[in-house]
Amino acid sequence: EAKAPVAVVPVIDHALSLFAGKIKAGGICVTSPDPDLSVRVCAEEIRLEQVLINLISNAVDAVMEVPQESRHLVIGVDGNSREVVISVTDSGPGIPDDAMGSIFDPFYTTKEVGKGLGLGLSISYNIVKDFDGTLKAHTPHEGGTRFSLSLPGVHGAP
Ligand code: ADP
Ligand code: MG
Repeated sequence: EAKAPVAVVPVIDHALSLFAGKIKAGGICVTSPDPDLSVRVCAEEIRLEQVLINLISNAVDAVMEVPQESRHLVIGVDGNSREVVISVTDSGPGIPDDAMGSIFDPFYTTKEVGKGLGLGLSISYNIVKDFDGTLKAHTPHEGGTRFSLSLPGVHGAP
């Protein structure tokens, strides 16, 4: 499959819908982008969804480490025809500074045996690289973790 214009918000909504059960059971408060936002990126829809599933899965795991009233997940979209940034921010325990250099390595995981293979971020990193984009982890001032996924935008009308 070749790269083509992909509307971002429906892909985010579909990826999120796969976690509806966990989100409800965990009492996780989710903020997703405005459904009227018609931002598009140059990507492959299935592989873009795979990246979002990996990031959301990690965010859901992370917020389950904190008390229910502190479980927030925010997905944002910001951009223009040149560059689009999708951010996945969670209120979990955060990633220690000394682990930041390892999280994209294949088989790096801090999860118990059977719960994580440590492949999600390395696969995601490679997919995003194929899209000529970037995938970065940050620690916001308020704590938790933010992944920002930057992708080439799409010029012109649909
Ligand atoms: P897995 O989820 O199977 O452990 P990943 O490649 O998806 O593998 O993630 C690697 C590691 O990066 C995780 O085990 C965890 O230590 C860390 N990590 C990833 N996302 C988050 C997050 N949102 N909050 C805290 N730690 C994270
Ligand atoms: Mg994972």
